Amino acid sequence: MAPAPKPEILAAFEAAKGFMPMHEGLALYAAAVEAGRLGLPLLEVGTYCGRSTILLADAAREAGVTALTVDHHRGSEEQQPGWEYHDPETVDPEIGLMDTLPTFRRTLHRAGLEEHVVALVGRSPQVAKVWGGPLGLVFIDGGHTDEHANADYEGWAPHVADGGLLVIHDVFPDPKDEFTGQAPYRIYLRALESGAFTEVSVTESLRVLKRTGTGV
Ligand code: SAH
Ligand code: MG
Repeated sequence: MAPAPKPEILAAFEAAKGFMPMHEGLALYAAAVEAGRLGLPLLEVGTYCGRSTILLADAAREAGVTALTVDHHRGSEEQQPGWEYHDPETVDPEIGLMDTLPTFRRTLHRAGLEEHVVALVGRSPQVAKVWGGPLGLVFIDGGHTDEHANADYEGWAPHVADGGLLVIHDVFPDPKDEFTGQAPYRIYLRALESGAFTEVSVTESLRVLKRTGTGV
C-alpha cells in the first residue's frame, strides 16, 4: 500500500490555504517518501501558502532529509487582484502587493514542520542558477505561462538524481480541462521526449516521472 501521512499531518494539510487537492496530495506524498530513500533533498517550485510543502516536509522528516521550497511569494499571474484565483487575504496592505510568505510561515509552524524546510525566496530560474547539488525529487507547481514552466523545467530537471523523481502538477492533456493554460502539460511532454524520464504514475493532473536516463 502507498505510504500515507499521519492524521495530524493530513489535518494540517486540509487546513492550509492552497491549491493541492487531497487525492493528488497523497500521490505527491507517496512520491516524496519513495524519493526520500535516496537521502537527497526534496525540492518544490511554487510554495504559495505551504499546503503541498507540508507533505514534502513530512516525507523529508521521515527520511531525514531537507525539503526545499522556492517562491518569490508575489503570486502567479492568475492569483493577482482581479483574477480568478485571487485571495485578498494574501495582499500585504502596506505595499499593496501579494505576499504569501507570512501565511506560509504560519502554515509550517502549525504543522510542526519548520525545522525540516528551507524556504528559498526568489525567482525560480535565479535560484536554480545558484543551486549546485543533486535532488531526490523536484516538484514543479509554479507559474503556468510557457516562459515560467519552461524555465522551471530547464532550471531544475537537470538536478534530479539518477532514480530521483520529477513531479509535475496541473498537467491537462485536453485543453477543455485546463484552467490556467497547458504549459505544465508541455513540459511534461518535454521531459518524456528527452529520454531522461519515464512515467511512473498519473493521479488526476499530477504526473510522477523517474529519471532513468541522461540527457537533461
Ligand atoms: N504548491 C502550492 C500552489 C502553488 S501556486 C499549493 O499546494 O497550494 C504557484 C506559486 O508559484 C505562486 O505562489 C507563485 O508566487 C509562484 N511562482 C510563479 N512563478 C514563479 C517564479 N518564476 N519563481 C518563483 N515562484 C513563482
Ligand atoms: Mg498546482
